[in-house]
Amino acid sequence: MEEREERLSQERIMEIRYRWSAGPYLGRFLAELRDKGKFYVVRCPGCERFLLPPRIVCSTCYTRIPEYPDGWIALSGRGILLDWQRVIYPQMDPETGEVRDEPFLHGTFRLDHDLLFVHYLGPADLDEGRLQEGMKVEMVMKPQEQREGKVTDIHYFRIVED
Ligand SMILES: [Zn+2]
Repeated sequence: MEEREERLSQERIMEIRYRWSAGPYLGRFLAELRDKGKFYVVRCPGCERFLLPPRIVCSTCYTRIPEYPDGWIALSGRGILLDWQRVIYPQMDPETGEVRDEPFLHGTFRLDHDLLFVHYLGPADLDEGRLQEGMKVEMVMKPQEQREGKVTDIHYFRIVED
């Protein structure tokens, strides 16, 4: 009979704090969102694609993107609901490590210039039963004092009644 080596283990909880620099492009994008509620994209001068969020180099044609404000375009914050999901399982918020309250609604929205964007659909008491593809939506910002320079400064997108 083969003798097995005993394997010992110890369990520890590690707390790892780090600070990640958003850099000049994403940093400006987030600052404009936080301070003015402006949601910017930039148009690549090489391939004319819109980049959301703006970044230093186009990921399609590798053209250098101009710095703010050259070619930066503020979106209207309005769009169309394409689809949505009700999230019903516990999900960790990657920014905080905390489990988010559920259930919540996540929507996919078509914004200006045919840009697709996925974000919360709200408010929390939104009646999912009346949702339909193609409904108009608009961005709802958190109150100024609650904004942190994150994309979640956009509280949610809400349905706009005609
Ligand atoms: Zn490009």
